[in-house]
Amino acid sequence: MDAVARAHAALDGFLTAYLERSGITPSCRAGCFFCCYGWVEASLGEAERVLEAASDAARRRAFLEGRRRARLLVRAKNDPRLPERHFLAQSPCPFLEGGRCGVYSARPLACRGVLTDLDPAYCAPGATRRLRGRALLRYRSRLDPRRHGPEHYLRVPKEAARRRFFALLEAEARAFGFTLAGELSVLAYLLQHPPFQAALKRGAGAVRAYLQRRRILGGRYGVWLRLGSRR
Ligand code: SF4
Ligand code: SF4
Repeated sequence: MDAVARAHAALDGFLTAYLERSGITPSCRAGCFFCCYGWVEASLGEAERVLEAASDAARRRAFLEGRRRARLLVRAKNDPRLPERHFLAQSPCPFLEGGRCGVYSARPLACRGVLTDLDPAYCAPGATRRLRGRALLRYRSRLDPRRHGPEHYLRVPKEAARRRFFALLEAEARAFGFTLAGELSVLAYLLQHPPFQAALKRGAGAVRAYLQRRRILGGRYGVWLRLGSRR
């Protein structure tokens, strides 16, 4: 099993034990996909795993959608509201197939860590912001600061996914000399883009130069290059 599959299995195991221990039953079900409108961060290894599992149609969608998001990053990679704007625009993840994740067993840590035990209707883009009066009071009364946050999402799964994501980046950088972190569709587009594939073969310097040329390197939400020394 490679580092990505190991990290995914470890998080799944942790989450199963956590939910059991806490007596929490998530409301998340197949066919429920508001969270797939989100800005999903992944590692290069995770994006490769997703592409391997994806259908030809999803790979094509990811190329087009990732290219669109890469162009968006040129002007918006430092916009603190980028993920929120993206969520409200309701552009679905290109790996969503008929309302279900088409790469479920290969989905990134970021997707695995998004869970709630409250009403899925709260996950709709802009839903909690539109709440007023009694509906807002009811929503607030259901939030448990020990269990939820941000908003109505389960805190522990989200934090565990984040921690394991950084550990995965380190493992990938150590194994290959470098890795990337960025939005899933953008990475999936790059991995299918011949000039990027050529840069990837030449190594970290060529990848950095490519990302700089495209003006998507770094920034708040751009593509990050993480270097590591092989052991
Ligand atoms: S996080 Fe919300 S939208 Fe996503 S699967 Fe769970 S309930 Fe559904
Ligand atoms: S990879 Fe799957 S779970 Fe994650 S956002 Fe895309 S469709 Fe949703």
